[in-house]
Formats: sequence, C-alpha cells, structure tokens
Amino acid sequence: MEKIPTKQVDSKPKKQVIDLYAKSERIYVRAYKGLYRNLRNIMAWLLLGAYFISPWFSWDDRQAILFDLPARQFHIFGLTFWPQDFALLSGLLILFAFLLFFITVFAGRAWCGYTCFQTVWTYFFMWAEEFAEGSRNDRVKLDKQPMSLTKFRKKLLKHSIWTIISLATAITFVGYFTPIQELIGKFSSFNFGPWESWWLLFFTVATYANSGYMREQVCKHMCPYARFQSVMFDPNTLIISYDEARGEPRGKGSRKTDVDQDLGDCVDCGVCVAVCPVGIDIRDGLQYECISCAACIDGCNEVMEKLGKPKGLVRYATENVLEGSEYHLLRPRFIGYGVAVIAIAVYIGFQLMSRVPIEVDLIRDRQVLFRDLGHGVIENTYHLKVSNKSQQAMVLRVELNGITQYEYIGDQRLAIGPNATVEQMIRLRVHTDMLDAPKTDITFDVKSTSDNSVKMEQESRFLAPAGQVL
Ligand code: SF4
Ligand code: SF4
Repeated sequence: MEKIPTKQVDSKPKKQVIDLYAKSERIYVRAYKGLYRNLRNIMAWLLLGAYFISPWFSWDDRQAILFDLPARQFHIFGLTFWPQDFALLSGLLILFAFLLFFITVFAGRAWCGYTCFQTVWTYFFMWAEEFAEGSRNDRVKLDKQPMSLTKFRKKLLKHSIWTIISLATAITFVGYFTPIQELIGKFSSFNFGPWESWWLLFFTVATYANSGYMREQVCKHMCPYARFQSVMFDPNTLIISYDEARGEPRGKGSRKTDVDQDLGDCVDCGVCVAVCPVGIDIRDGLQYECISCAACIDGCNEVMEKLGKPKGLVRYATENVLEGSEYHLLRPRFIGYGVAVIAIAVYIGFQLMSRVPIEVDLIRDRQVLFRDLGHGVIENTYHLKVSNKSQQAMVLRVELNGITQYEYIGDQRLAIGPNATVEQMIRLRVHTDMLDAPKTDITFDVKSTSDNSVKMEQESRFLAPAGQVL
C-alpha cells in the first residue's frame, strides 16, 4: 500500500514580537499667516513679557512679586499673604479653575491654544527653529542630510537660542522665589545655594526638553486637562471644526471639469495637517490631541483665499450649528460656571478689602493652668504673637476685657515693623475678689493706637482654683 505523505506540522508556536511602543514621528510645522496666528502671537508676547519683566518691578523697597518661602510670605505688589491666608490663596486657585471651566464650555480648549505655558514656549522654540534652520521644507531636507559644516552651524545656532531661552526661563522662575537682582549678582561668581542650583538646572532642562523635543507629547500624554476637557463640552461649545457638508467629497481637482464639479470645497492639499503642531487631521473630527490653536483655520483660510472660495471651511463652530440647529450661548452649564466665577470673585474681593492687616495668635500656658501667688492673687500665663501683614510699621495696643481690675505683666504697647512679628509672654494677675467663677471668659483686644482702623480680638479664659472663688 502506498504511503500517503503527511504534512509536517511545526509543533513549536512561532514567536510574534509586538512592539508596544510606537515611536512618534517628528512633526515639521509649516509656517502660515492669519487672524488667529496674530491673536496667539499677541497673547504669547503679552504672557512672555509679563513673565520675564514682572520680577524686575519694585514695590516699597522690595521685589513687587516675591514668593519668599523661608519667611513664609507671598508678596504681590501691595499685598502680603501669610500662611494664615491660605484660604484666600485656595479661593484664588478655585476661581482660576472655574474660569477655565467657563472658558472651556464657551470655546473649548482656548486656554491650551492661546495661553498655556507649554504652547507659548513651544511656539517660541519653533520660532527659533525656523530662524536658525529655515522653512519646513528646509528643515526636512536638513535633517536628512549627513552632518556638514552648514548643518552643524545651523543646529548649533538653534540649540544655542534654545539654551538661552531655557536658561532665561529658569532664572526668571527662580527669581520669583529669590530676589532676582541678587540671583543675577550671584551669576558672576556662580555662588548659588544648593536649592537655587537645583531649580536652575531643573527648569533649564525641563524647558529645553518640553519645548524643544517633547512638545505635543506633553499635551497628549502628560497634561491631565486634555483628558477631561471633553466632559465640559456640550453641543453648543465652540470647537474648531471641519465643515464636512461643504468640504466633502474632497479631491484635488480644479473644479472646472464636470467630474470636479461634484467635489466639495476641500482640495485635499494637506495644509491643515502641515500647520498642525500636534500632527492631526482636523477633517477626522474632534480629537483629544487638538489643542485648539486654530492654526488649521488660518492654514485652510489661506488656501480658500487662493482658490477664491469663502473662508471658513475649517472654523470655530458648534456641533449644533454644523448639524443645522441654532447656536445657544446661554445654557445652564455656561450660566452656572459664569455665576460661580462671579460669586467667587466677589467673595475674594470682599475678603481682600475687609482683610485685617494683622494676625493675632494667643495661647494659654497649657502646662500650668494657674499659679497661686498667695494673699488671694492668682496668675495665668499667655503666649501672644502678633504679625503685621502690611507694608507699613504699626503701633498697637493690647487691652483686656472681661475683668475690671488686673495686673498686666508684659508690654501692652507693641511697635511692629512691616511684615514683622512680635511675640511675648503675658502674665495676668487677678485677685480672687474680682472673680465670680473659677473660669472667667476674657478677650484680648489688639488695636492700633492712632485709630480703630486695625482691630482684632482673641478670646481666652482666666482660671482660678475653685475653692478660692466664692
Ligand atoms: S487640529 Fe491641530 S492645528 Fe487645528 S486647532 Fe487642533 S491642534 Fe491646532
Ligand atoms: S487646508 Fe482646507 S482644503 Fe486643504 S486639506 Fe485642509 S481642509 Fe482641505
């Protein structure tokens, strides 16, 4: 009998290597002109100017904006915030958060596109890149070329500008925490403290890496805002959208032949993708990577202008409008965030205006409740701490209420310099004849000697042995 040949089956399963890491492609952003680019440039220059110039302003013989961590005082022009003002600072942060939500409900990620530090610095670095290496096509060609003197010179120029921007950013940042003039003075001798050195190095490297290399990766993978922004969107949120009804079917034709006549307005030129700093195609719809920079609007408008077609194939539009419905500005979520912003701003404004420029802290001696000095005299001890949170020196007076006759051992007149604190032990001696109960409620009033504009009171108790108070 003839043997039927059998197929040899390899019992060993073949190994399949799946690369879970997709290398990101380098994005070469094309230059473009337009309304939104101008708007973003104005915002960027204002923000960069404010960031780099603010630490150089002075106010009352000190840096106008200084976060003095060792002294635990935050100076912002005429205001000084102390750790006790933490609630106020938290309120400010909550206000900014609600403002961000409000803007997002209205116009999507406008914050990301126009004012986020990552976007502003990335565009600053992209400007340096174009300055040193030329247009998009020149940069693509340059990167493909082997190293030459010209390539080396261009790369060196680009990295030198990036380093200068990164270093200036780091110095300025540290200058908000250490007086910037002192910091610059230390540069000549490189005489920085360990923390200054660490933060200067950290911020230089972080700025260089984030804005020079990581760019859109920060927005895509590191920024939490990109992930939860869509929760705040509704069908009336203005988002950057491609008008599919007008643009499709897309095609490269001239629109002059019969076949071309059936095509939509999108000539599939790819300009909207080439100008996009995160490398996405807006024609694929809303994507979480989109930072709402509006570059694709400007890019597409340039194309439409050349073709003699109306602008706005890519534009700010709402989901409702694109579907043919009406745009509603006033809707519950928008009003809710708006009301919250106004309410928090009013509350913070009121708190700032009614803010007492002193802080009083009074603690009873917890170790010894009272001392019996004999002949019916009882002594209680208190620790008083008064801080002057203003920029002016103050003379304050401490007065006691709740007991009519007493001996106050301590300084009732307190002279405190600006942003200074005085502390003292107070001993209060009272005869038991003056007391109605073993526990007497008292208040220490701390007020300015000139007028009653500054006044703060602290409640406490005077304790005496129960057997001696009748
Ligand atoms: S798609 Fe790209 S270019 Fe258009 S707004 Fe979003 S991030 Fe900017
Ligand atoms: S730039 Fe405008 S016309 Fe060109 S591909 Fe993009 S949407 Fe189409």
